[in-house]
Amino acid sequence: MASALLNLHDFTRAELTAQIEAWGFSPVHGARLWNYLYYESAANIPAMMELPVRLRTRLETDTTLGRLPVSRETHSADGFTRKYLLALADAHRIETVLMRYTGRVTACVSSQVGCAMGCVFCATGQMGYTRHLTAGEIVAQAVHVDRVLRSTSADTPALAEPGDASPHHRHERLRNIVLMGMGEPLHNYDAVMKAIDILRDSSGMALGAKKICLSTVGVVPGIIRMADENRPIHLAVSLHGATQAERLALVPAARAWPLDQLMDACRYYTTKLGRRIFFEWTLIEGKNDGPAQAHAVGALLRGMPAQVNLIPLNPTAGYAGAPTQNIAAKQFQAILADYGLPSTVRQRRGIDIGAGCGQLAVAE
Ligand code: SAH
Ligand code: SF4
Repeated sequence: MASALLNLHDFTRAELTAQIEAWGFSPVHGARLWNYLYYESAANIPAMMELPVRLRTRLETDTTLGRLPVSRETHSADGFTRKYLLALADAHRIETVLMRYTGRVTACVSSQVGCAMGCVFCATGQMGYTRHLTAGEIVAQAVHVDRVLRSTSADTPALAEPGDASPHHRHERLRNIVLMGMGEPLHNYDAVMKAIDILRDSSGMALGAKKICLSTVGVVPGIIRMADENRPIHLAVSLHGATQAERLALVPAARAWPLDQLMDACRYYTTKLGRRIFFEWTLIEGKNDGPAQAHAVGALLRGMPAQVNLIPLNPTAGYAGAPTQNIAAKQFQAILADYGLPSTVRQRRGIDIGAGCGQLAVAE
């Protein structure tokens, strides 16, 4: 029965070694298996030739590699973005995005099937919540993108920079991850943090903490927990409104975690960890992109070690708003700069394949 199988991507290295020992094998084989999973990215269990035959047999009967089959793959006309619809063992599906920005490849991974937070302009929110992903299902998305990169050769220019002959992309590895796909990662805290620990393991994928960014709608207890646990990854908080009323109109989760409590949690985080926070602001024309709102953001965040990432609204079926035009976005940035706040306007990529921020959704 498939559900009884252990997903190898659900284990930390210590847990995997303990499991191998519990089966009566040497911990050395646990380390070798880990290497096959995350360093060599072995295609399947029979390919793990250096493991004892008996262990391979055990793995074949009791475990699954946890790879997520691709139901559909779409490539953006911009040449920089690919979207994968991946099938989970229970037939639910999720989306994972591979993005190449200025020579750097980033995987945008999902943390849930759907999302319970209901942000009005987000396609994932519009589809509702189905379930949390397991740690293994989160890890498997990164492993998938890593395998795509490793198998990419010079004849697949979609992954290369324009004009780049791309030989050095041959054996590229995944180095950057954003938890900005489907779902609210801090609603699924334990699985998300376990997945990050697995991906950071120094003898596996060895992703740098500073190459991982988690974006939250503002789950206050989760932010406080990240601070208390001294989680070294980057944190981005979705703001979208600088007053409780304006934010609540876009982000229903602001009812549970009001703006003043959110800002207290953010200050606690920056003070405790001595680290800056990123704030995300979806720019919606005529709604939250005027000078008054920019001043309100400036006043709200003044003095905090913060950077604002502005995201012009991407289209979704359930929300009629339009993205802010470039000139207005520049003005917004200029006002933030007056308050000492650095900001960026996110490049719009993958919009034609529905791979932009907030566009990920799966018809169930
Ligand atoms: N659940 C997390 C992470 C996923 S969404 C969060 O909400 O932070 C990643 C970012 O995209 C968030 O800042 C989110 O508010 C933003 N976003 C959602 N829908 C969008 C849309 N249609 N256009 C632009 N940004 C959007
Ligand atoms: Fe969920 Fe984030 Fe979308 Fe809001 S923006 S509905 S929290 S995925």
